[in-house]
Amino acid sequence: MSAPAGILASALVCAGCGASPALDDPYPFRCPNAGGHNDTDHVLRRVLELSAVEFPSAGGGDGGENPYLRYRHLFHSWHVARAGGISDDEYGALVERLDGEVAWVDGHGFVPTPFSRADALSARLGFAPDGGLWVKDETGNVSGSHKARHLFGLLVHLEVMERLGRADPAQRPHLAIASCGNAALAAAVIAAAGRRVLDVFVPEDADPVVVARLTELGARVSTCVREPGVPGDPTYHRLRRALDEGALPFTCQGNENGLAIEGGFTLGYEIAAALAGGPGLDRIVIQVGGGALASACVESIDEAVALGALAKVPRFHAVQTEGAWPLRRGFDRVAARLPTDPTTADVGAALTYAARHRSEFMWPWEEAPHSVAHGILDDETYDWLALVEGMLRSGGSPVVVGEDLLVEANRLAVDATGIDVDETGSSGLAGLMALRERGEIGDHEQVAVLFTGVRR
Ligand SMILES: [Zn+2]
Repeated sequence: MSAPAGILASALVCAGCGASPALDDPYPFRCPNAGGHNDTDHVLRRVLELSAVEFPSAGGGDGGENPYLRYRHLFHSWHVARAGGISDDEYGALVERLDGEVAWVDGHGFVPTPFSRADALSARLGFAPDGGLWVKDETGNVSGSHKARHLFGLLVHLEVMERLGRADPAQRPHLAIASCGNAALAAAVIAAAGRRVLDVFVPEDADPVVVARLTELGARVSTCVREPGVPGDPTYHRLRRALDEGALPFTCQGNENGLAIEGGFTLGYEIAAALAGGPGLDRIVIQVGGGALASACVESIDEAVALGALAKVPRFHAVQTEGAWPLRRGFDRVAARLPTDPTTADVGAALTYAARHRSEFMWPWEEAPHSVAHGILDDETYDWLALVEGMLRSGGSPVVVGEDLLVEANRLAVDATGIDVDETGSSGLAGLMALRERGEIGDHEQVAVLFTGVRR
């Protein structure tokens, strides 16, 4: 996909139907054709005119700079701001001011999170010295997980719209999210930093400690009951109703807000900056719930390669639990449409068919799932198509792991790295261990995982 010719080097384009929101739409979050009665998978993707942008120069790593500042020229908001007459300096000052507000609420703002070869863990997993496991540690990020990355980009966008006069700061719509974990905590921190009202829809069994913290941060918490015979997540149904009533999606679901995926691109950019000048990664193994984290990684790493910042595209592997694996189910159904030894054109045709027949590939998981990795138990993988595409095009695959391995991976993660990650946060490692056991990952390969959330 390339950006349509126009005044901006950045465009939001629906991967399902090709539509774009109006250029002056202050809230270009969802495909204008979404919500209709057809079976198309409407998700906006941020697409750059690659010849018109540059990845910040390699060599010096990332210098510890706020990633939304360092990579600002790659953000849709920056292109919209510049086209509307906001200077580069003004935009930078806006990001810095918001980052300061985040620091005031949460103790610190955004800086690149650690990413390095985990030597002890690599040895324990049997990797050779020239191969090994790299860990991106998100447990010390704002609000204790990667989730705030997705939402800070959104806050910047909302502020830019007000600066351009396209939204009225005196009449800010409420923000809304469905979550009971890291996403809700991140949303509450970022909304508080932006002085915006946030509605959080949580399930009945939400952790009272999390609910107390959400309330402390000023969020308005509503409990949603799962009704017998109604498939899908009840908190998500409630979110949809709030959005229909005019709330803005402050969520980590790309189908509701494509710009939330773009905020997560900072992860792939930081990984690319750390690996600049080297051979790159052979694989990246990422846990998947709703799919925002993984699709952000897939798209940003693809982009970094296209911009010459990273040597090659790694094979992507998406990890789900035996409790719920709607992505693996969808992947298998797309793969079943392919001939043996498919060409690029075969893959493209299968993906186009899948984009227009969503219900044949993705629907809510039938049973109420349980797992120690409860943060990746989404009923649906909302951002499934970008992941199926990323895996098929890179020669990767989905992997489903059991509870024993999730527990073992977490023990190993904490023991060998000293990072206080929870079971959801180390579930990518469980996937890697499953692939190692099957002999699919060799001793000399360079592989990355993300430790996404701190134990609470
Ligand atoms: Zn669409």
